[in-house]
Amino acid sequence: MKALVARKRIQIQGVVQGVGFRPFVYRIAQRLDIRGYILNSSEGVVIEAEADEDALQKFVTALTAESPSLARIDAVEVFSIDANGADRFTIDESAPIAGRFALVPPDVATCEDCLREVTSRGDRRYGYPFTNCTACGPRYTIIRDVPYDRPNTTMDEFSMCPACQAEYDDPSDRRFHAEPNACPDCGPGLALIAADQLARGMPVDFAAGSQNRIILERTRHLLEQGEIVAIKGLGGFHLACDASNDHAVSLLRERKRRSGKAFAIMARDLATAERLCLVTPAERTLLMSARRPIVLLFRREDAPISNNVAPGNTRLGVMLPYTPLHHLLFEDSRLEALVMTSGNLSEEPIVSRNQEAWPRLNGLADYFLLHNREIQIRVDDSVVQNFEGHEYPIRRSRGFVPEPVSLETPVREILACGGEMKNTLCLTKDHYAILSQHIGDLENLETMEFFRETLEHLKRFFRVSPVAVAHDLHPDYLSTRFAIEESGLQPIGVQHHHAHIASCMADNSLEGRVIGVAFDGTGYGTDGKIWGGEFLVCGFAAFERCGHLSYVALPGGDKAVRQPWRSALAYLEAAFGPDAAALPLPLFREIPPEQIAFVGAMISRRIHTFETSSCGRLFDAVASILGLRHEITYEGQAAIELEAAASQDPGTYPFEFRGDDPFRIDLRSMIRSVTGDVLSRMPVSIISARFHRTLGQVVVDACVRIRESVGLNRVCLSGGTFQNLRLLDHSVTGLRERGFEVFIHRRVPPNDGGLSLGQAMIANRRLTA
Ligand SMILES: [Zn+2]
Ligand SMILES: [Zn+2]
Repeated sequence: MKALVARKRIQIQGVVQGVGFRPFVYRIAQRLDIRGYILNSSEGVVIEAEADEDALQKFVTALTAESPSLARIDAVEVFSIDANGADRFTIDESAPIAGRFALVPPDVATCEDCLREVTSRGDRRYGYPFTNCTACGPRYTIIRDVPYDRPNTTMDEFSMCPACQAEYDDPSDRRFHAEPNACPDCGPGLALIAADQLARGMPVDFAAGSQNRIILERTRHLLEQGEIVAIKGLGGFHLACDASNDHAVSLLRERKRRSGKAFAIMARDLATAERLCLVTPAERTLLMSARRPIVLLFRREDAPISNNVAPGNTRLGVMLPYTPLHHLLFEDSRLEALVMTSGNLSEEPIVSRNQEAWPRLNGLADYFLLHNREIQIRVDDSVVQNFEGHEYPIRRSRGFVPEPVSLETPVREILACGGEMKNTLCLTKDHYAILSQHIGDLENLETMEFFRETLEHLKRFFRVSPVAVAHDLHPDYLSTRFAIEESGLQPIGVQHHHAHIASCMADNSLEGRVIGVAFDGTGYGTDGKIWGGEFLVCGFAAFERCGHLSYVALPGGDKAVRQPWRSALAYLEAAFGPDAAALPLPLFREIPPEQIAFVGAMISRRIHTFETSSCGRLFDAVASILGLRHEITYEGQAAIELEAAASQDPGTYPFEFRGDDPFRIDLRSMIRSVTGDVLSRMPVSIISARFHRTLGQVVVDACVRIRESVGLNRVCLSGGTFQNLRLLDHSVTGLRERGFEVFIHRRVPPNDGGLSLGQAMIANRRLTA
């Protein structure tokens, strides 16, 4: 007897577009003899499936059990509907549904199959830098709108040749509905132009066919000869040069006005990365993941990499090639690693359009390698490090964005504007928090424009209409001004460190109240002072400041941030009184006496001097007292160098708790001991090790104190200072030994790049309270 035919409507939400999901469903439908259709909708995919109950059951199971590795299924809804006698399974036109949204996939690194094609002589895609398939290629960077179909991408201006179209239409092909599908005959092409030609406004012709290969060969040759080439990639331009060439690296550093900050490098392959750096198995997984982030790795001393790539740093930021173009740059070449730094002047957003390349990268590069696949939205490379075998994000951008952070409970539609440094914004909707890519430091008009552009883009993709806007309490941040003056939404101010801890809570799907340790450089406090060494008890609804590092003077505000010796002087005067300046410390030999006297007077008379509990300034002070660094050229430099200098030593320094509500952690005795060690010529490596251990002890003792009074046992660690893995390790280990449950960031950065998530969570709770 023939089984009864039934029909189901199956709605799937999650990352199911641009990941080969429709061809995958088509293949299972063929296998199980299912009739009906599948289509992309603006909320995911919709399937109608007709067959006997048994086959339908197997079909629904297979949808999740066998789904493609890049897909992420968040919800499957199945409804019974009337059978209509369909006789085959088809992939139908996409149907937009107003108000709902599908999850737009992030960009995906080149897969093994595509890599094999571009490196195989005789393959029709041999040497073709824009090869991709349903398992890899550009996504977020080329999408103009959802649903994710070719006409909604920047690939719509290229019509597929018959061969590509046949792949696109063939359900058994790996390029079935691969939206950016292209080949040398029909797809985008390269152009290589000398800077002076571009300056003269010469028209740019883009290559077709095998010309692309010749252009890549010439580019390779230029790089080998030490030239600096601006290379248009996936999410924007990189400035590239041979990482082993001292002259080229120094020249790039000079041109980019980036005096000390490390450049990221791209190693030709995993084996090369392992020759340059120590790579643990967990780090190998991070390097090879389809997201292909920059991974911070300890460099080998004999690595053939210019010391100018990451001066004063024991670690290198390393990534592997993630587009065919990158792979091909290393093909048949003696290049082992390229510096690949964002194509921009320091502090400006990454350049993404050909027309911008000349005016904005003028003077930075000798040659420009352009292509004519338009980048719809700029995305920088992501940066991660490894902690205890897990990914610990530093910059969440390419490969991650716009994949949302899923939330435990549904939220209102809200915009959170983030902070000022390392800005990201966040939109919330349903069970999702959608964080933007890294936007940068909101200090100039270009970056603010990038912020607006990204906001509009994400609102459109995810069909979000915010009802309120969350912002930092600092009145002068451009993000705060945008929220209050420009957004037209109900503003909700959120304290900086409360937002950090809320971000860590959401990152770990926590509810209720926790002990929060927020250590960073600068955050506006509710008492008008500059906070940054904070112990909170908080939930999303509210926070209480239980304790903090004792206030010290911050003479000259922002100037003190650039000149760690000012913080050193403030700490020394607090610890030794007016005799401080007589101490025979390197600081007093290396900074002109009149400057010392001037800043000393500022501190004692409180002229243009603020008070701060900043942990970042504490690192600055110690680095300067040790003679390691008195002035910085980029944010966090003193702390990074202090961490890099540390060796293993079990010692700690004394410190005291003072008062209550909030308690203060008095570090003057530590400063006196550190100074004593410096004067008795103790190696910097040991003093630094003891300092880190002491700060870890401060974290543990403060949390024990708070637990005694409020009974909470969960601790969240957040804030930029916790990018310091040595401090993180001492804190986490010490807290666990005392029986605490410790939570650190896993999906969003501990630094201000994760701030917008916390702001959004807090604003949500206030709106619903
Ligand atoms: Zn592929
Ligand atoms: Zn083609």
